[in-house]
Amino acid sequence: MSARVLDGKACAAEVESELIVRVSNLKGKGIEPHLAVIIVGDDPASHVYVGAKIRACKRLGIKSTHVEMPSNASFASVLEEVERLNNDDLVHGILVQSPLPKEMDELSLTDTIDPKKDVDGFHPTNLGRLVQGRADGLLPCTPHGVMRLLNWGGVELSGKRAVVVGRSRIVGMPQALLLSRKGADATVTVTHSRTMDIAEECRNADIIVAAVGRPEFIKPEWVRKGAVVVDVGVNRVDDESRERGYRLAGDVHPDVALVASALSPVPGGVGPMTIAMLMANTVRAAEM
Ligand code: NAP
Repeated sequence: MSARVLDGKACAAEVESELIVRVSNLKGKGIEPHLAVIIVGDDPASHVYVGAKIRACKRLGIKSTHVEMPSNASFASVLEEVERLNNDDLVHGILVQSPLPKEMDELSLTDTIDPKKDVDGFHPTNLGRLVQGRADGLLPCTPHGVMRLLNWGGVELSGKRAVVVGRSRIVGMPQALLLSRKGADATVTVTHSRTMDIAEECRNADIIVAAVGRPEFIKPEWVRKGAVVVDVGVNRVDDESRERGYRLAGDVHPDVALVASALSPVPGGVGPMTIAMLMANTVRAAEM
């Protein structure tokens, strides 16, 4: 068996074509959706991610503002910048690119973003709404993107056993909530570094979402024949045969494609979906 590809690029293109119509409707009412991205420091990967987000804004006609702050910027000055953007009625979405310099507390910064402009969906108000099963919040982009990709791939979730590997605030935990909420209706197991036997948990799954941050962690022998596997992981693995000295690997071993019925690739799977859902949140914030 060779797994069907859960093609994040194709699905994201579909999301973008819907958003172009919504952006044009907003502009017809005199509203230009506007995303502000704050980046602190010079982490090269962060600059690549921010570049991709700004390019997506351009494609869709969303205005973007890029606020660059030096790595020695004080926490107070970053807070001040967030406050300024909170108070700017012409800004609809605010995103602080992760990771921040080590000494900065990301959680307390997230708390200061106006929940209506929290396009990352990490503010406690938005995560709380998700826990309550409400539809009036902004959802975290990566797990929301996974849900859209599963829907695009025609994957039935209701009553199925889903295993989420990883329990982070930004991926694993909200992913489990989205898979199990009414309307999706999967029965979800969350696994993490203290889980006794992850292989066994995975073997029982109809759907596996891997968000571990360990290259090729999910092995083919852990996957039931015909299961659907979504690979959230993006890991840099040293590879001297490449000009840049590394290759990108997911959290799922490539041979899983031989047993799964569907698998999302890395790159080209969840990554484009995360950006598409960020754009969707920005448009939604402007509509709200
Ligand atoms: P994270 O905050 O480091 O969380 C990793 C999770 O995996 C934790 O819950 C951890 O368990 C668990 N874990 C780590 N090692 C494990 C092990 N040996 N066995 C079982 N569980 C283990 O990472 P994250 O932010 O969720 O990101 C996960 C991956 O997704 C990364 O590769 C990241 O780059 C990628 N990512 C991709 C996108 C995208 O757009 N494609 C977006 C976000 C993240 P504990 O809680 O017990 O420590």
